[in-house]
Amino acid sequence: MRKVSGINNHRLRHSRTKYILLNTRLCRACWKCTTACPNGVIGKVDFLFHRHARIDHAEKCKGCSKCVKACPQGAITALGVRRQDN
Ligand code: SF4
Ligand code: SF4
Repeated sequence: MRKVSGINNHRLRHSRTKYILLNTRLCRACWKCTTACPNGVIGKVDFLFHRHARIDHAEKCKGCSKCVKACPQGAITALGVRRQDN
């Protein structure tokens, strides 16, 4: 099996949760998803010419898909994992 590099591992950690996948290349930094998420999962990378959403707290994601519906760019995809209410 191919070894995942440190950088790829970092990218994966900040681009997905158990329930959603964030494509930062499509992100236009409108921050609608950060506002829509009730669990504070999604944070911001907000430098001058480097701006996009990122997953900051994947473990808090409950799979409600509010971020998916809020994103006007289609940058967030639901992964189709059955949600577990806990
Ligand atoms: S699926 Fe729900 S809990 Fe998870 S990041 Fe999106 S809005 Fe937040
Ligand atoms: S709603 Fe979509 S375009 Fe806006 S910050 Fe979130 S991922 Fe980026």
